This record gives sequence, C-alpha cells and structure tokens, in this order.
Amino acid sequence: MSLRERLTREIALGGPISVADYMTRCLHDPSDGYYATRPAIGEAGDFITAPEVSQMFGELIGLWAVETWRAMGAPPRAVLAEVGPGSGVLMSDALRAARLAPDFLAAAELWLVERSAPLAERQRAALAAAPLAPRWVVAVEDLPADAPLILVANEVLDCLPARQLVRTSAGWAERRVGLDDRGALSFGLSPAPAPPCAPEAPLGAVIEIAEAQAAFAAGVAARVARQDGAALLIDYGRAEPEVGDTLQALRRHEKVDPLACPGEADLTVHADFPAVLAAARAAGAGAGLLTQAAFLRRLGIEARAAALSRARPEAAAVIARQLGRLTGADQMGALFKVACLHAPGFTPPAFGPPS
Ligand code: SAH
Repeated sequence: MSLRERLTREIALGGPISVADYMTRCLHDPSDGYYATRPAIGEAGDFITAPEVSQMFGELIGLWAVETWRAMGAPPRAVLAEVGPGSGVLMSDALRAARLAPDFLAAAELWLVERSAPLAERQRAALAAAPLAPRWVVAVEDLPADAPLILVANEVLDCLPARQLVRTSAGWAERRVGLDDRGALSFGLSPAPAPPCAPEAPLGAVIEIAEAQAAFAAGVAARVARQDGAALLIDYGRAEPEVGDTLQALRRHEKVDPLACPGEADLTVHADFPAVLAAARAAGAGAGLLTQAAFLRRLGIEARAAALSRARPEAAAVIARQLGRLTGADQMGALFKVACLHAPGFTPPAFGPPS
C-alpha cells in the first residue's frame, strides 16, 4: 500500500493530522518517506543546495572550522560534526581545505548525523579518500560529549516540521491534513488556542510554529555551551517573525502541490531564525545571525573565487556565476542565513563586529 493510501486510511480512522505530522510522515516514513527511500540532491535530482552549487561553499566552511578551533585555543581533541550531510560534498570540500591545517586534522574526529540510510551510503563513498574517517550517529544527542564541538548543518532546519495556525473570523485554527468529500487528502482547519506570540495578522494569515527547529537548536546550543564549541545552522528562512505559509514540495526542481505525492517530493518550511536564536540563548549559548552573503564575504569568498579563476581561466565564467548564485541578493545571498550558536565568552570567526 502506498504512503498516500496508508495516510488516507489512517486519517479516515483517526481524524486529520497536523501539518507537522504530515511532514514527518512524508520525509521519514520508514518504508515510503522521502529521505528513507529516494532522497535526490543535486542537479539531476529534486533540489540543489549551496555545497552542490560550488566547492567554495564547503571549502570556506572548512576554513571556518579550523579558525574556530584555533579561537578555542586549539584543543587537543575536537568533535567535527555535520548534521544532514546529504551527498557528503560539503564535508569533502571542507576537509580538502582543512588539509592546510594538519594540527587541526590531528585533533579532529569526524562524526556525521544522518537518519537516511541511502544518504549515509552516498556520504561513505564521497568521503572514502578524505583525511578523516567518518562515524555515523542518528541524532545530535548521540555525538560524543567529552570534547569541544564544531558542528555544521546546511538545509536541515527546513526539514524539521512546523505546525501551521490560521487566523479566522472565529479566532485561531490549526491547519490540518484531512480528507475531502471524495476521500482525497486536503487541507482543513480545526479550532486551536492562539499562538504564544501572534504578530498582527490579517484574517486568513498563516503563522508557523517551528517547535522542532527550536528543540533542535536548543539541543545543539546546550552542547556547545557545555562542551565548548560553535555550530553553524544555515538555511533559507526569516530573520524576523513573519506571517506566511512556507510549506513547499519540490520534485525535479519544480514546485508541486504538497499533498499531491506524499513521500515522493522533498517537503520543507522556512527556517524560523527568531525561534532558533531564542531557543539557543535560553539554552545558555551565544547566538548570532548573518545573511549567507555577509558570512561568505567575511570568510573571503571573493578572493577565493579570484584565486580559482586565476588557476583555471577557462572556468572563470562558471566560477563568477557560482559566486553570484551563492551571494547575490536576488539569489541565495539574502534569503539564506547563517545562525552561529556558540559557547558564551568567545566569538567565532565572521561573527564579530565587521572590520
Ligand atoms: N546538507 C546537505 C543536505 C541537505 S538535505 C546539503 O546541503 O546538500 C537535508 C539533510 O538533512 C539530509 O541529509 C537529510 O537526511 C537530513 N535530515 C532530514 N531530517 C532530519 C532530521 N530530523 N534529523 C537529522 N537530519 C535530518
């Protein structure tokens, strides 16, 4: 039975489910979920991410990790972790750049947090020749807790599910996935308490409650605060509280109806950075936020692009296009943001006052 048939049957028996529960089923259902069965990242797949756009992205994050380790006093052991490493290309590029710092590589242990078995296989292949051998766990809680932590997660917050509340003339309601008259999956509303902080919202406005994103940030923040360390959470999303329905399904680079093909498309919501930063600070960490363009420029992406173009003049036009895609205000530069959660008392590279 397909995931659609199983969801339809479950909803017929048990009633409508929240948008968050629908997302979780579509992404992680063990037999039919998108990440469990058919994750397809890259040009030939369903969606493309920054490390897939250009090697510069992972390389600069590798240099950031080395500089962060130095800023922490070059501890003799450090946990270098990536959550949701996808195809493994970000970490592969990061470790190539980190070869410039053998002292860092001697101190670092590589841990990958991945729930998707097919993606873990891709990561194993991508990192086969890397200077550090990876180990896998399925949750941040399973990472070693006895050494400073340097963590990166690119496009992971957006797959952590959110609930959606809608302002109606009768008060707030929760948007749920139920069945229409013909028994097909459809959105509906059920009464719900007002959200804890409801911005001024017109009738019909949707507010997303990203509890799973806040919980993830709190877990990472508690670790970097306790074990020392810093984490980058990079994603597209809002820097200020905003209203709006950001649930989106992508299949072969096209937006599709989120209810049309459960488990067959990637399903995401925008990262809620105000909630992420608040949760991190409440858990005892320092937290800062930059646009992706500002972060990459502070790490020197323009000089890196110029050096790559000098080394490969025939690729200069491609490199210029990649630079534009990662940093252009109308491309990934402004919508994508980089949250840094860090131990109180030290400021990781790029997150100090602009020089
Ligand atoms: N970071 C990669 C891949 C992004 S796709 C890149 O930038 O290309 C999202 C990644 O997050 C996948 O590896 C997916 O398996 C992982 N993921 C999805 N839900 C997750 C969860 N709940 N916990 C941990 N990882 C998750």
